[in-house]
Amino acid sequence: MFLIDTHAHLDEQSFEADFEEVIQRAQAASVKGMVTIGITLDSCRRAMALAEKYPTVRSAVGIHPNYVSQAAFEDWGLICEMAKHPRVVAVGETGLDRYWDHAPLELQVEYFERHIALSREIGKPFIVHCREAEPETLEVLNRAAQVGPLNGIMHSFCGSPETAARCVELGMMLSFSGMITYKKNEALRQLAASVPRDRLMVETDCPYLAPTPHRGKRNEPAFVQQTAKVLAEACNLTLPEMAELTTDNAKRIFQWLE
Ligand SMILES: [Zn+2]
Repeated sequence: MFLIDTHAHLDEQSFEADFEEVIQRAQAASVKGMVTIGITLDSCRRAMALAEKYPTVRSAVGIHPNYVSQAAFEDWGLICEMAKHPRVVAVGETGLDRYWDHAPLELQVEYFERHIALSREIGKPFIVHCREAEPETLEVLNRAAQVGPLNGIMHSFCGSPETAARCVELGMMLSFSGMITYKKNEALRQLAASVPRDRLMVETDCPYLAPTPHRGKRNEPAFVQQTAKVLAEACNLTLPEMAELTTDNAKRIFQWLE
C-alpha cells in the first residue's frame, strides 16, 4: 500500500525532537510520501530543506493568508524563485481566512491571486486554505477561472455541498483531513463520498487536527491512514483501494515522479 499525506507542516517545532521517528512511523503506516507546506518565508526555507533531505518528502511554498501582513516586500520574489525548485510540487498554502482575521481581506485576496498566477506560470498546482470565507474564496476562484483552467487543491475541505460542487466544476481537487473521522461529521463523510473519485485526496494537516482515535494529541503523517480508512468506508471501498485512488490523484496533480 502507498499513501500520500498531501498536507503536513513538518517544519513545526513540535516535530523537532523526534522527527526521525515520525518519518519511520509514516513509512511503517505505508505513508511513503508527504508534502510539507510552507506558511512564511522562513517556514518555506525549512520545508525545502526537509524535502531535499528526506526522499519521501516534497514541499509547497507560499505565504499563508494569516501571515500576509507580516511578509516583507522581498519575500514574495524569493518564494517565486523557490517555487521552481524540483522538490517543490505546489504553490501555497494560500487562500482566505476570516476566522482569525489576521490580515485585511483585500491583502489576503491580493496574495491569493498572486499564488494562482504563479501556479499558472510554473505549471504547479496551488493549495487553498478556506476558513469562514467560502463565498469570498469562490469569488476569487470564479474570477481566476475566466483567465484559464484552474489547477488547484481545496485543502482540509469542510465547506458546503454547493461549494464542493462548484470547486469540482472548476476542476479543483478536494483533500480531506482527520475532520472526516469525527463522529459528529456524518454530513462531511457523505459529502466526501459524493465527490468524483478522481478528485479525492487525503491529508493530515499535522500537527493539527489529529483523526480519531488520536484526537487531541499531536497529529503526524502516519495517521493519514485513519482518514483514508474512514473515507474508504464512506465510499464503499477497501483501504488499499482508497490508498491507490488518492495516491494516483496526488501523483497526477503534483507530477510526482518516483
Ligand atoms: Zn496547512
